[in-house]
Amino acid sequence: MVWPSAFPEARARAGALAERTSFRIGGTPEFLFEPTCVDELAEVVAACRRERVPLRVLGGGCNLLVADGRLEGAVLSTTRLRHEVRLDRTVEVGAGVSFPGLVSRAADLGIPRLSGCPGIPGSVGGVVAMNAGGRFGCVSDALVEVEAVDLDGRRHRRAVEPGDFGYRTSPFLDAAVVTAAVFRREEPLDRDAERRRFLEAAAWKRATQPLSAASAGCVFKNPGPGRSAGALIDQTGLKGERVGDAVVSPVHANFIVNDGAASFRDVTALIGRVRERVLDATGASLELEVRLWQ
Ligand SMILES: Cc1cc2nc3c(=O)[nH]c(=O)nc-3n(C[C@H](O)[C@H](O)[C@H](O)COP(=O)(O)OP(=O)(O)OC[C@H]3O[C@@H](n4cnc5c(N)ncnc54)[C@H](O)[C@@H]3O)c2cc1C
Repeated sequence: MVWPSAFPEARARAGALAERTSFRIGGTPEFLFEPTCVDELAEVVAACRRERVPLRVLGGGCNLLVADGRLEGAVLSTTRLRHEVRLDRTVEVGAGVSFPGLVSRAADLGIPRLSGCPGIPGSVGGVVAMNAGGRFGCVSDALVEVEAVDLDGRRHRRAVEPGDFGYRTSPFLDAAVVTAAVFRREEPLDRDAERRRFLEAAAWKRATQPLSAASAGCVFKNPGPGRSAGALIDQTGLKGERVGDAVVSPVHANFIVNDGAASFRDVTALIGRVRERVLDATGASLELEVRLWQ
């Protein structure tokens, strides 16, 4: 029984989310749960639902902008769900496994196409929920099944169907907690082709994105096929624009970087300014890719 005994411990564990997000921004939730297995996770989800405690799911914290100060409710981190089971035709990976680590081992594991996703930080669960990816492919390209816990605390497994995953979205985002992802294996895998794709994608990322700065990746979704949010922001001359320590990256205009001690307010003010200028100059209304917790 999770409630109420586990809640004092979860309260004591809660610390500033700035330490768990790639933006290095964010205050402290009331509770922080780090379940070690799916049964425990399902109990936490069910207890929060029953007790009406708002619950947010934290993966690697690489696509989050979290408000400063106190955050109402509970945060559930998947970081301890780290199993990996390799079968003949599939590999099942726990939601808390590092996605870049998985991408670097994908060819050895026999998983095709993940070679198109180097330099995408986060957890396997978060990457599946966001359907992260880019011009060289996305995580759902090799995904066959997802294990998840729904918001009532029920476990289920779902085979991936065509059309389930869209541009930076999945059926799980805000609707369930992904607990494991099952990827297909190919035997034999064309390792040379995988290696070429990995090197090309990694070189492109390194050349075009500020990968070592504190950020949450691309702030805005591209407004349509062939329309890049970064190019639109660049056109308005906003590279280098600053509010406090939040700066539109001079390397890639769709990244806002934390140049020291940026606050949530600095970043949201800069986001507002970018949106307004792009709308005025181009008519495009930019939608957030970064997820806001406030
Ligand atoms: C330098 C940099 C480069 C990046 N490049 C790319 C890129 O090329 N392509 C790209 O798509 N993204 C990119 N990103 C963004 C980020 O890597 C992805 O969005 C990734 O999916 C975030 O995973 P995460 O585990 O950190 O999720 P988090 O940031 O922890 O969470 C993101 C969202 O997913 C939800 N979530 C997290 N885990 C789960 C779960 N287990 N079940 C259900 N929901 C969950 C959260 O509640 C939140 O709404 C980049 C980020 C950085 C900092």
